[in-house]
Amino acid sequence: MASRLQSPSSINTFKHCKRKYYYQYIEKRPTSKSIHTVRGNIVHSTLEHFFDINIDKLSQDTVDRMFTMQLQQEFIKQWQSYDNDLRSLDMTNDQLKFYFEESLMMIMNWQKQFVARLRAKVSPLPLAFKELTPQRELELKSETHQVRGFIDAIETENGNVTIVDYKTNKRSDIKDSIKLQLSIYCLLYQEEFGNLPDNVAVFFLRDKQYTLPVHKDNVKDAMFEIEQIHMHTKMTEKMSDYEKNVTPLCKWKTGQCDFYDICKPF
Ligand code: SF4
Repeated sequence: MASRLQSPSSINTFKHCKRKYYYQYIEKRPTSKSIHTVRGNIVHSTLEHFFDINIDKLSQDTVDRMFTMQLQQEFIKQWQSYDNDLRSLDMTNDQLKFYFEESLMMIMNWQKQFVARLRAKVSPLPLAFKELTPQRELELKSETHQVRGFIDAIETENGNVTIVDYKTNKRSDIKDSIKLQLSIYCLLYQEEFGNLPDNVAVFFLRDKQYTLPVHKDNVKDAMFEIEQIHMHTKMTEKMSDYEKNVTPLCKWKTGQCDFYDICKPF
């Protein structure tokens, strides 16, 4: 069988539970939307479009007001554009209001830290803004490794390249799944641009950015995991070859795995 095109999400799903991978990526059963995925998309799109702001009138006096206005307007626009998805979640207006306000607070937290970085630069603000403007939402694909990824931001500052991923997670915990995601990005970056990035970073939007230096081992780790999944999926597409991994993540207090009812793990 030919290799399937993988992604950090599909690989992490495979590592967590092969049966879940089978349902989602081989049988292609639909997954349900959650407020966390929808608002994640809204926040990501807001930060992506923020940098399209017209900076002609940017100055020390106007920077906070201009950025707050731009981010709020963009956030509201994005929230409205996801109206159908939000309605489909069957949540009360109060619950949606809570997530609206919480998401906006995360964006304002990001803004505060971005402005601090901007003010710390020696260049005039409009130039400093251009220097801090990252490449955004870049899709990279490796034909060799049959994997692709969407990178939130690539920052280049003083010749140092940092791949940044934004997270709306509750806890600022750089779990193994996040490390693997970032390592796959390093591999993709290296293949596209011919060299490794200097750093990878996770911006936990409730908190701050955590930056880690990149080592060659990151790419080795990514290659190993990609190889493992290709070996398995090329060899078999029989459901019984995709084991269940029954853990408390099958069903928890407020939800359950998308495939709980067909999987019947317990
Ligand atoms: S319910 Fe549990 S065992 Fe079944 S697919 Fe989901 S995570 Fe895997």
